[in-house]
Amino acid sequence: ADSAAQAAKRSGGNGFAFFEAHMQDGVRDQLELSRDLRTALEDGGAGLSLHYQPKVAGASGLVLGVEALLRWQHPRRGPVSPGTFIPVAERFGLITTLGDWVIDEACRQIADWRDQEGLKLRVAINLSVQQLRQPEALLQRLEQALLRHRLDASQLSCEITESVAMEDAGATERVLQRLSALGVSLSIDDFGTGYSSLAYLRRLPVSQLKIDRSFVQDLETSADARAIVNAVIELAHALGLEVVAEGVETEGQADVLRAKHCDKLQGFLFARPMPAQELAQWARRSQSPDARLDFSDSVFA
Ligand code: C2E
Ligand code: MG
Ligand code: MG
Ligand code: MG
Repeated sequence: ADSAAQAAKRSGGNGFAFFEAHMQDGVRDQLELSRDLRTALEDGGAGLSLHYQPKVAGASGLVLGVEALLRWQHPRRGPVSPGTFIPVAERFGLITTLGDWVIDEACRQIADWRDQEGLKLRVAINLSVQQLRQPEALLQRLEQALLRHRLDASQLSCEITESVAMEDAGATERVLQRLSALGVSLSIDDFGTGYSSLAYLRRLPVSQLKIDRSFVQDLETSADARAIVNAVIELAHALGLEVVAEGVETEGQADVLRAKHCDKLQGFLFARPMPAQELAQWARRSQSPDARLDFSDSVFA
């Protein structure tokens, strides 16, 4: 495809005007999305839903927990991906309201699985940096949701991307300590893409590292990726942390990861993120009848 610059040249050389028009299109688009997202939130989350993707134990294949991933069915555009609307929510001041909706919905769903299906599943939600910057509001929301649905805090975990965790180290450490004191377990997401200080990582009350999908993707073709994955698994275990590989798509990748004793695997090879009802069926199918989901002695989600 032509670059914008080539297109601008062809169209008469007024590259600046071309870029500006283009940029305004993008801004207009974001403004429209933010307006529609605000409407959805004011309407109790109309069009929003959570899909759930299993984290499967490397050794036994059991489902020990799921990650909640936000979905938005836009009234005119159809499905809009979180890669598009999360940045819009962050930019237009909607992310805490959206994050609150996620907390409430995830807790409601955990209770629903318990009450309607007799399933005990742990759910990990993704937190945005702006939620961590308002610790009072975040902690209060979490506490209220757990209480309202009579959940043990250990049924919920929070994923924070590595780049966010390393930002503003002192403040982040304090928030994570408080989340951890509440009983919620913590994961570092997309690990390997940021620049962690190992000394700092060791201080954080996290229980899980998630190896970024980009390394998993290249496992079979790149010796570098294999070396990185190996190092992350060993680092995690040396620090007493559990390690999860995200984005596992092939049996070959899964084999390498199991051989390296990666604790949990997550990816399209096992299951795509799916609606709550489907997830419950999937979880049932994947468990043997006597291996009903009981994680009373399992620490991680
Ligand atoms: P993430 O937390 O790293 O989530 C993993 C992403 O990889 C998800 O994309 C998931 O659908 C996708 N994925 C899982 N397995 C595979 C695989 O085998 N192959 C490939 N190609 N992809 C796989 P999704 O759902 O589009 O979410 C993208 C990102 O949006 C998430 O990355 C997370 O950072 C953010 N996000 C999603 N839901 C929320 C939310 O509720 N709150 C916040 N703050 N961010 C969210
Ligand atoms: Mg995540
Ligand atoms: Mg991730
Ligand atoms: Mg990711």
